[in-house]
Amino acid sequence: MPDMIPLPERPFRQPTLSVVVPAFNEAAGLDRFHQRLAAALADSVSWEVIYVDDGSTDGTLAVMEALRSTDCHAGVLSLSRNFGKETAITAGLDHAAGDAVVVIDADLQDPPELIPELIAQWRRGYDMVNARRRSRAGETWLKRRTAHAFYRLMQRTGALKLPEDTGDFRLLSRRAVDAVRQLREQHRFMKGVFAWIGYPTTFVPYDRACRSSGVSKWTYWRLWNLALEGITSFTVMPLKCATYVGLAVAVLAVIYAVQVIVKTLIIGNPVAGYPSLMTVVLFLGGVQLMFLGVIGEYLGRVFDETKQRPLYLVQRFEPSAVRVAR
Ligand code: UDP
Ligand code: MG
Repeated sequence: MPDMIPLPERPFRQPTLSVVVPAFNEAAGLDRFHQRLAAALADSVSWEVIYVDDGSTDGTLAVMEALRSTDCHAGVLSLSRNFGKETAITAGLDHAAGDAVVVIDADLQDPPELIPELIAQWRRGYDMVNARRRSRAGETWLKRRTAHAFYRLMQRTGALKLPEDTGDFRLLSRRAVDAVRQLREQHRFMKGVFAWIGYPTTFVPYDRACRSSGVSKWTYWRLWNLALEGITSFTVMPLKCATYVGLAVAVLAVIYAVQVIVKTLIIGNPVAGYPSLMTVVLFLGGVQLMFLGVIGEYLGRVFDETKQRPLYLVQRFEPSAVRVAR
């Protein structure tokens, strides 16, 4: 029998599953989260959890440290300041060692009990297993409507087909994680990044619960900015709009000019037209300013990308004891 090709040396034993939990001021609910996570996974697979402290100011880090000292599955990644959820997830993915990685919120809106189902789908060969919300408890009518409108817009502009009613709660195979890690843009819209990579994808439905404690960090202003991020990161459609609006206005202007000339020739020119003049000037001024703003949105992003800054800085990384050195 020919010699087996040795597997590449790995510096530590690898868990099958890494759970990445971004957390910003979640001290109150983290213990409960960990209990439920540990109960849900038990010994079904070898697993670790990476708690990403996104610059919390309420002692979240201390709670994480305590969890790590009592449970060999828990690891702590602490970022140097608050970088936002999208970046916290990226940091977690960068430090996850598992063959599969689950991203889940710390506030228990995503039930950890669903993870075994996600794993089952992954074992059937899917690279991306999305948890899809069947219901959205505790969310206002306005939030549901605006979220829906946003998904529609993304699809209409041809940017990307974002699966509706999926958040960041999902499982990624190692191959998918490595793909996501290649996309290092500063302005990250993780839902878009996850959709962009492709690979076989499936969905597992679940009921979204209310927050267990604390408050949502997503104000409408932050959501609006997230939506802008989503659109400008994946399509230049708004820029194209400028071209077509400009074209339409020009055509209308020509028609109007012809009308004015003909009218002047037929009935003379009794110097009127101040209101129509003001309307046209103001309208054009407004349209021009608006599209300057749109161009500015893109230019600002180009500016940020050219600086090539690291996405985040790590204060401290303490992997779980599951990863014992060999
Ligand atoms: N989060 C984070 N950094 C932030 C804001 C939020 O890591 O700057 C985490 C937060 O701790 C939670 C998850 O992201 O685990 C989802 O946040 P939140 O519940 O506020 O969002 P929502 O559920 O309302 O979408
Ligand atoms: Mg939440």
